[in-house]
Amino acid sequence: MNVQASRPRRLESYVCGSWIAGAKEGVPLLDASTGAPVAFIDSSGIDFASTLAYGREKAGPALRRMSFHERAAMLKALGLALMERKEEFYALSAATGATRADSWVDIDGGIGTLLSYASKGRRELPNTRVLVDGDVETLARDGTFAARHILSPLQGVAVHINAFNFPCWGMLEKLAPTLLAGMPAIVKPASQTAYLTELVVRRMVETGILPEGAVQLISGSVGDLLDHVDGQDVVTFTGSASTGRKLKSHPAVIGNSVRFTMEADSLNASVLGLDAGPGTEEFDLFVKEVAREMTSKAGQKCTAIRRVIAPRVHCDALVAALGERLGKTVLGNPADETVRMGPLASLDQRTEVRERIRDLLADAEIVAGDPDTPRIVSGDAEAGAFLNPVLLYCDRPWEAKAVHDVEAFGPVSTVMPYDTAGEAVDLTRRGKGSLVASVFTNDPAFAEEVVLGMAPFHGRVLIGNRASAKTSTGHGSPLPGLVHGGPGRAGGGEELGGMRGVKHYMQRTAVQGSPTMLSAVTGRWVADSEARSGGEHPFRKSLAELRIGDQLVTASRTVTLEDIEHFANFTGDTFYAHMDEEAAKANPFFDGRVAHGYLIVSFAAGLFVDPAPGPVLANYGVDNLRFLTPVNPGDTLKVQLTCKEINPRADAEHGEVRWDCRVTNQNGVAVAQYDVLTMVAKTRS
Ligand code: NDP
Repeated sequence: MNVQASRPRRLESYVCGSWIAGAKEGVPLLDASTGAPVAFIDSSGIDFASTLAYGREKAGPALRRMSFHERAAMLKALGLALMERKEEFYALSAATGATRADSWVDIDGGIGTLLSYASKGRRELPNTRVLVDGDVETLARDGTFAARHILSPLQGVAVHINAFNFPCWGMLEKLAPTLLAGMPAIVKPASQTAYLTELVVRRMVETGILPEGAVQLISGSVGDLLDHVDGQDVVTFTGSASTGRKLKSHPAVIGNSVRFTMEADSLNASVLGLDAGPGTEEFDLFVKEVAREMTSKAGQKCTAIRRVIAPRVHCDALVAALGERLGKTVLGNPADETVRMGPLASLDQRTEVRERIRDLLADAEIVAGDPDTPRIVSGDAEAGAFLNPVLLYCDRPWEAKAVHDVEAFGPVSTVMPYDTAGEAVDLTRRGKGSLVASVFTNDPAFAEEVVLGMAPFHGRVLIGNRASAKTSTGHGSPLPGLVHGGPGRAGGGEELGGMRGVKHYMQRTAVQGSPTMLSAVTGRWVADSEARSGGEHPFRKSLAELRIGDQLVTASRTVTLEDIEHFANFTGDTFYAHMDEEAAKANPFFDGRVAHGYLIVSFAAGLFVDPAPGPVLANYGVDNLRFLTPVNPGDTLKVQLTCKEINPRADAEHGEVRWDCRVTNQNGVAVAQYDVLTMVAKTRS
C-alpha cells in the first residue's frame, strides 16, 4: 500500500494480531499547512482488555525467551529495515508541519535511537536473560550465605502514551529500551499526528522481525485500557501536565502500584554567562542556539528554550540580535524547500499558543514577532497553523509568575535579566524542575557555580562554549545514552540514559542463598561456590565445552629480589618502594622492598596461561584489579582462575569469557584479585 499517495483514509489500530478500523468514521486529521484532510481516526470497538492480555500472553513469553543480544540483534534489523523505508515517512511527515530538518530529528533520530540501543545492548549487556546489579553482598562470615540483586523483565505490557510533536522518535525512543528489556508494548500516539506513527508501525509489522504482539498500536482513544493495567505493566506518558496528572492518579494505576513515567511541561532555561557579552564567541553561539530552539519544530519541542536568562547589561544587545535573526526565519509550507520553519501541528494548537502568549503578557512585553499576522512564503494563511516566532522581555522576573509557569508550546521565548550567578541559578529553579537547561560561558568557575546550582532541578544540563561549538549536539537534543526527563514540573520521570532506560522495564530482586545457589540462578560464578578443578586446562576448552565454575589451581612461584630488580630495570619502574629498603620501610604500607603490582599480575599470567595455540584467542583486558597485600622477596604466589561468565556473540565465531583471578601467598592470603577478560572460539579448530 502506498500510503502517502492515497486519499484521506481511516487509520487502523494493530491489536491482537490484526489491523482494524474503528467502528465509526472518526475525527478528521488535517494537514498543518493546508488544512486538507490527511486521515480519520477512531478506535471505538476495540477490546482493550484483550489487547493487553494478547501482549502479555502472546508476545511477553516470546521476548523473554530471547537473550539480550538476540533482542539487540532484533532492534538492529528493525532499525535497518525502517531506515530503508524512511523516505516514505519523510513524505508523510511534511503534513505534520515538519520541515525536512524537523523530520530528520523525528525520523532519523528515532531510528538512530533504535540502532544505538541495539549496539549498546550488544556491547554493554551480557548475552543472558537476567542482569545482575551490583556486587555480591556477603551475609555470613564463613561464606556460606550471600545475596545478589538481579533484574528480570516485567511480565506485563508497557503502555506508551505519546505526544503529538514527535510521532516517530516519541514512539521509538520508548520502544527501544522496552523491547531490549524483554517487554511488549502498546503504542498510543497523540491523535493529531498519529498517521505517521501508524505508517511506521505498519512497516515494522510487515518486516516480521518482531515477535507477534511485541508492538500493538491504538489509533485513537485508549478507551478503558487503563482500567485493566496491573502491577506487572508500565505506563509512560508524554504530554500536558494536566492529562499526565489525571492518568497518574487513575484508580488502577494507584491501586495496582503500576509504574508510571511522566514527561510533561517544562520551562527550560538557557543562561548567557556574565563573561559572554556581545563580541564574544559565546554570545554569538547563544543567539544561534536560542533562535534555533525557538524555530525548530516551530518550538513544539519539550526541550525547547522557553526562558532566556541574560546579564542585565547585555539584554538590549541580546534582544536586538535575536530579533534580527528571528526576523529572517522563512515561514511557510515545509514542502517548499526555502522554508525554515513550518506551521504548528494544528489550528487548535495555534489558538492554544496565542492564548498562552496572552498569559505571558501579564509579566512581559513582546519585543519581536507579531503573534497575530504570520508572514508566510507558502501554505494557506487561513487554513494553515502558521505563527511567527515571538520573543518577549520580562524586566522584573523576581516578581513575575507567568513567565516561570506558562508553557507556550510554540516558537515563543522570554528574555529576563540577572545580575549575579546566584540570581541566574535561582531564576532557572523557578521553573520548578525542567528537562534541560544550558549555560553559555567560557568561564569554568561560572560554569561550575551555575551547573551545580541547577543540576538538582534538571535532568540534563548543557554547557556551550567556543571549544565545543562545532561538535555540540545542542540544548534541545535528547540522546540515547543520556537521561531524558526532569524532576517536579517536568513530570519526575526518566527515560533513555543508555542501559538505565532498559532497567525501568525490569524488576530488581535481591536473591539470598548459598554461593552455589546464587551462581546457578544468576548464571555467573560467585566466590565460594562450587567449582570444578583438576581436569583439562580450561584454556583448552572451546566456548561450547567451557562451563561456569571450571577452575584452574596453578603451581606456585617464589618471588626473589632478583626478579624485582630485573623487572624494575627492564620496565624502567624503579619506584623507591621496589628499590630502596630504608625508604620502603619508612612508607606506612610496606615492611621493606616490595614486588611491583604489575610483576604479580605478570607472574600470575605466567602461572595460569596454557601456551599452545587453542580456543583462547586473546586477552582483551582486566577489570577491577586490586592489590590487596604487599608481596616481599621470598613470598610464594599461587593462582586460582575460575570461569565466571560466558557471553557467546550472536554474530561471530567467538565469545567473551570473564575469569575470576585470585592470587594468594604462601599463607593463603589474597595478594591480588581481578577479572581476566578473554575472547574464546566457539569450537576447537
Ligand atoms: P495531551 O496531554 O492532551 O495528550 C498527550 C497524550 O495523551 C496524547 O497521546 C493524547 O491522546 C493522550 N491522552 C489525552 N487524554 C487522555 C486520556 N484521558 N486517557 C489516555 N490518554 C489521553 O497533550 P497534547 O498532545 O494535546 O498537547 C497539549 C500540551 O501539552 C501542549 O500544548 C504542550 O503544552 C504540552 N506538551 C508537552 C510535551 C512535553 O514533552 N513536555 C509534549 C507535547 C505536549 P489524544 O491526542 O488522542 O488526545
